[in-house]
Amino acid sequence: MISIKTLDEIEKLKVAGDIVGKTHNYLKQYIKPGITTKEIDKLAEEFILSQGATPSFKGLYGFPGSVCVSVNEEVVHGIPGDRVLKEGDIVSIDIGACYKGYHGDSAWTYPVGKIDSSKEYLLRHTEESLFKGLEVIKEGAHVGDIGYAVSKHANKYQLGVVRELVGHGVGSKVHEEPDVPNYGKKGKGPLLKAGMVIAVEPMLNLGTPHIYMLDDEWTIITADERPSAHFEHTVLVEKDGYTILTKR
Ligand code: MG
Ligand code: MG
Repeated sequence: MISIKTLDEIEKLKVAGDIVGKTHNYLKQYIKPGITTKEIDKLAEEFILSQGATPSFKGLYGFPGSVCVSVNEEVVHGIPGDRVLKEGDIVSIDIGACYKGYHGDSAWTYPVGKIDSSKEYLLRHTEESLFKGLEVIKEGAHVGDIGYAVSKHANKYQLGVVRELVGHGVGSKVHEEPDVPNYGKKGKGPLLKAGMVIAVEPMLNLGTPHIYMLDDEWTIITADERPSAHFEHTVLVEKDGYTILTKR
């Protein structure tokens, strides 16, 4: 069942989302050549704690980091470690924060220093695909409308749409019903109602849509090892549209 949030729950989800947005803003200044993914994780955790929240992903299904930090061909679930970011890399940071039992979830892919034009192209059109997906959200729309809009945009720019990983409902758990795939058919899938909270999160690849998992059993990378980007917002479904809860 897809839960409709109460006003009290929505208030907490708004604070949680706001903390996630602020954490992204805070981290941005540190994303430079020379920083390790573990240092990014530590800065994120300290900031989230300073806001009176806890990192949602720490220990979730056993994940060892506070946030996911995925570089270049890594699609999602990169474990923070000793990898040093280099000029020309792209880095996806997926942040979850839990405030009074309610979560916010947002991923963003950042350039490290100056990046080449193909990576710029990937970042620009993946970010656009997120907003194409969000634009269709309102009471009465279907989850399939979102995926249709995202994949239509991805196809227009010949980007590979990752199908195995999907968006989701958000509430007292980070991952709730419904699944929100980045592909779909208009008018199909669960009906959206005001008060639902969902995360929309296109993961698009410069090459093949196919992916596989590394031996660490967390990190997902592209099958052709070409770069991947990930943009995600948690949003509240409203009567006439939507409100982004994880704005920065
Ligand atoms: Mg996320
Ligand atoms: Mg998510």
